[in-house]
Amino acid sequence: MGKLELVLGDITLSDADAIVNAANTRLLGGGGVDGAIHRAAGPELLVECRTLHGCETGQAKLTKGYRLKAGYVIHTPGPVWRGGGCGEAEQLSSCCYRSCLELAQQYGCRSVDFPSISTGIFGYPMAQAATVALRTIMDFLSSHPLPERVRMVLHSEDALRVYQQTYNMWYACD
Ligand code: ADP
Repeated sequence: MGKLELVLGDITLSDADAIVNAANTRLLGGGGVDGAIHRAAGPELLVECRTLHGCETGQAKLTKGYRLKAGYVIHTPGPVWRGGGCGEAEQLSSCCYRSCLELAQQYGCRSVDFPSISTGIFGYPMAQAATVALRTIMDFLSSHPLPERVRMVLHSEDALRVYQQTYNMWYACD
């Protein structure tokens, strides 16, 4: 079974086969991690994104990584948090994380790095997002040969601590 790692870092520096971009539905760049990925990848990324004609919330589309070390960027617009009663968990899980993992597998990616989707501008509470993210990734890894390694690249000590606590609550054996 593939392994999951929780690390503190900047996903634009990742050397994984694919990184995930917490995009918006227009796929034309934006703030937060989306802006950082576009800046690091260079303008060719936006040129390719324009050919994709957007992406629905919870689906995923793949581009090349251009100036990034990562070979591919998988763009997925996460759900905007509206209090939790509007299907946000389902969209974050089956749609975002699962769609990205399926796409990564189709392209033969052995390693995939994710940011914490929807927990910035889109306002999804970190602990709830962590539960959904970790459950979806662990389920996928237990039933598919690829990817062999998935990393959650957390951008702050606080986010890392929340993900570690969530992991320990659900998955640590001792
Ligand atoms: P969303 O619109 O999906 O909420 P954001 O980019 O606003 O997307 O935030 C998603 C998460 O990505 C936040 O937890 C934010 O702290 C984190 N983030 C921002 N920049 C980076 C980066 N360079 N590497 C990894 N994570 C990042």
